[in-house]
Amino acid sequence: MRAYLPLLAAIFGLFIGSFLNVCIHRIPRGESIVFPPSKCPGCGTKIKPWDNIPVLSYLLLLGRCRGCGQRISLRYPVVELLSGLLALTMFSAFGLTPAALIYYAWACNLLVVTFIDIDFQIIPDSLSLGGIAAGFVLVWWLPVSYADALIGLAAGGGLLIAIIYGYYFLTGKQGMGGGDVKLLAMIGVFTGWQGVLFTIFMGSLTGTLVGIPWAFANRKNMQAAIPFGPFLALGALVYVLWGARIIDWYFGILL
Ligand SMILES: [Zn+2]
Repeated sequence: MRAYLPLLAAIFGLFIGSFLNVCIHRIPRGESIVFPPSKCPGCGTKIKPWDNIPVLSYLLLLGRCRGCGQRISLRYPVVELLSGLLALTMFSAFGLTPAALIYYAWACNLLVVTFIDIDFQIIPDSLSLGGIAAGFVLVWWLPVSYADALIGLAAGGGLLIAIIYGYYFLTGKQGMGGGDVKLLAMIGVFTGWQGVLFTIFMGSLTGTLVGIPWAFANRKNMQAAIPFGPFLALGALVYVLWGARIIDWYFGILL
């Protein structure tokens, strides 16, 4: 059983990934994530279960709809693969425990937030505020104390608000939105305040590394906002998986 666990977790994650694709598409459009079943946007044919096997169907169909031949976005198998990878990593890190399942579900939330933020530059409240509400129940099973979760919530909300106002005060521009504040507050519930500090640091670092070349590539449009949610999501995931080791290593160099 132990040897099969990573494989089972990955397959489980791939299938959940199909559902996450539905969430990414429908939540920002205010549609139900349960009904109706998925259809091809080109010809409206209901997608058959055997054409809906994660990644595999995409490869077998060569990335095209069986009915009308319209291209299927590469986004679908990519989200499925990422979901499978996240399940594999969470269950490898936390074993067959409630914490693994909770952190995987949380990672799925962050994955959906990432792609919605990339597409629409919004982070739906149902994911951020909904995550905060769920987090206060689920933190019982996590290696985070209630006190740390509460301080994490306040720090996540408060710190970003301070940064947003500070940035606005210095530059007269708005760098981040309210969606990022609610997202970081949600992250704080699941990681504690230590995770909030790490996430801001990691998110700003990766955001800058990606943002500078991105701004040069889009020279005509320097003001085009790069969504910050994906970088916060990445920082939070890195913290939960490897944060303790990275912090030890970092302070090992300093001291
Ligand atoms: Zn079609």
